[in-house]
Amino acid sequence: MNLKDYIASIENFPKEGILFRDITPLMLNGEAYKYACDEMVRFAKEVNATLIIGPEARGFIFGCPVAYALNLGFAPVRKPGKLPRETVTVKYDLEYGSNELSLHADAVKKGDRVLIVDDLLATGGTVEATVQLVEKLGGEVVGAAFFIELEALKGREKLSKYPIFASLKY
Ligand code: IMP
Repeated sequence: MNLKDYIASIENFPKEGILFRDITPLMLNGEAYKYACDEMVRFAKEVNATLIIGPEARGFIFGCPVAYALNLGFAPVRKPGKLPRETVTVKYDLEYGSNELSLHADAVKKGDRVLIVDDLLATGGTVEATVQLVEKLGGEVVGAAFFIELEALKGREKLSKYPIFASLKY
């Protein structure tokens, strides 16, 4: 199956100069969507993950099916103010400005083997912040899985300590 057939590439979205990779055509095709999730499930088994964590919002699109397929739990990473109970929060730099991400403080227990799942790896900033959240809570990050990796942005270098899986590379 050529999964690139299910990615729409949109120029100048959401800003001038950005080529946005849109995964919604993949999600509309049941067979292709399942194929992509199954590849992540295989990786999750290889690294013996015991918990799946995904950043909002597109990390949920892949992370939840992977957790379901493996009978594992899923915890959402969200922008501050969205999670209702005690959280841990990290701030990280963007090209312009900064961003914050939060995780419920009871989402990760010491000894959990966490696989981080997101739709796309660009600079790696989102996942690096997610790693910090997991490690603050005593979890072990055993890998990160993406549907798409934008190789030119070198996110893999930022995450060089961890096994990385990506179905598609651009
Ligand atoms: P990073 O933090 O620079 O690695 O950016 C990755 C995050 O930005 C992911 O959560 C993606 O959902 C989002 N993102 C960046 N570029 C794209 C894109 O072209 N398509 C879809 N999502 C993107």
